[in-house]
Amino acid sequence: DKPLMELKNVDMYYYKKSGLFKPKIPIGAAVGINMTINEGEIAALVGESGGGKTTIGNIVAGLLKPTSGEVLFEGKNIYKMTRAEFRKYRHSVQLVQQDSYASLNPVHTIEHSLVGPILSRKIVKNRKEALQKVKEALLRVELSPPEMFLEKYPHQLSGGQRQRILMARAILMNPKLIIADEPVSMIDVSLRIAILNLMSRLNREMNIAFLYITHDLATARYIAQNGSITVLYLGKIVETGRTATVLERPAHPYLQALLSAVPVPDPDIESRKRKLPLKSVDMPSVAKPPSGCRFHPRCPYADEKCSIEEPELIPFNGRLCACHHVETIPEWSYLE
Ligand code: SF4
Repeated sequence: DKPLMELKNVDMYYYKKSGLFKPKIPIGAAVGINMTINEGEIAALVGESGGGKTTIGNIVAGLLKPTSGEVLFEGKNIYKMTRAEFRKYRHSVQLVQQDSYASLNPVHTIEHSLVGPILSRKIVKNRKEALQKVKEALLRVELSPPEMFLEKYPHQLSGGQRQRILMARAILMNPKLIIADEPVSMIDVSLRIAILNLMSRLNREMNIAFLYITHDLATARYIAQNGSITVLYLGKIVETGRTATVLERPAHPYLQALLSAVPVPDPDIESRKRKLPLKSVDMPSVAKPPSGCRFHPRCPYADEKCSIEEPELIPFNGRLCACHHVETIPEWSYLE
């Protein structure tokens, strides 16, 4: 496995005013993040809203400079790159966001939106070549015949088609990594699998790595089954490893609770599934994270140590997990 993107000890703090003449309050949207995305891999980044996943996505995309830590692309710190190197990195790492309507200019045709960027970034020599590339990209994302879509405006397309247009715009840059931030959350449930399958196909056929950002464990498991998964809670990684290992036997109580809330299609298994009730359903704010283990107010296994001492990520059964009691808390599996 060759690392493509690496985050090393990355912290992202925002500073919020607490009042006139009062010091600003630091808010750790992402704290102590270590993460590697290998070439050609599908990595899932999972967490509830406020967990820090979009912040991390924007840091990987180079849109947000972390307060501290290093962001490496192919082994080079992106903030120490020459302009030419940085430009190459920005082409190689593309971000596809969830709101496909807002991501496309409503007054431009699809042709205009797709041809413009590759011409201005000199990825193609001329307009004719650009149009040819755009048609190929539309075919790749299964929008066929391409001519039918070129003249359309974003509002004339369905949510699923717009998401495919954004994928086409991303692959036109010849990327090595696509960061897909909740790409299917605004799309009709029946169409989600098709978009996930499209991403898997682009991964296989073009060897594009994906960072799939989601709050939904079921789709993360589906798309990243052969890759890795990282679970965030209030800006910190609580568990990370190969998806098959981590989701087969989740070690962190937060992940166990998330998994126990994912419905299983088989009603028989669903009725016998082990539930892990959380102590309080309210998610604390990242602006005021709880002391010690950030999960302790909700964790059914919390003790005094948990409310005082912050757990480190440590190796456990083939993955990394941040929990003081990982060795002793009961194993969780689908069935009682
Ligand atoms: Fe629960 Fe304590 Fe583990 Fe945190 S450290 S997940 S509070 S048992």
